[in-house]
Order: sequence, then C-alpha cells, then structure tokens
Amino acid sequence: MPVDTHVFRVAARIGLSNQAKTPLETEKQLVQNIPEHLLSKAHHWLILHGRYTCVARKPKCETCGITTACKYYQNLSKKEVIS
Ligand code: SF4
Repeated sequence: MPVDTHVFRVAARIGLSNQAKTPLETEKQLVQNIPEHLLSKAHHWLILHGRYTCVARKPKCETCGITTACKYYQNLSKKEVIS
C-alpha cells in the first residue's frame, strides 16, 4: 500500500491510521487493518477521496458520504455543539 500525501492525510482524518508520524507507519497500520484482497481498491479509494473530497486545506465534509465514519468530522461536530 503506497502511502502518498492523499492517503496519509485521509487515513489520519478518518481514523484509519492512529497518530502515525510517517507514511511507513501509516502503511503498516492500513495493511494491518484492511483485508488483503481489498488493499488495492482501498488504496485507489483513499487517493480519489483525498483528491476530490477530503482535500488538504478545506475538506468538503458537507458533500462527503462517510461523515458518520470519520473521526475528524465527529470531532468537528463535537466542537460545534460545545461552542
Ligand atoms: S467527513 Fe470531511 S474530513 Fe471526514 S473524510 Fe469526509 S471530507 Fe474528509
């Protein structure tokens, strides 16, 4: 599972990786938690999701289909409820 900038960012935001500091750490965590037969599809999905929806500066959470599974979004929602 090659970890480029999109995969690294999206995996961290969603919570698929846990406080990984390097692409190699992210790769190890993803490989450990994604079934082997789905690794290739997951890789492409993470890249495309990072390129078009979960973009670097301002993720498009309002149009994202996985808000209920996303750690970043859940934390964002908690902050909005508090403030
Ligand atoms: S909800 Fe937002 S932060 Fe989470 S994956 Fe979707 S676009 Fe990214």
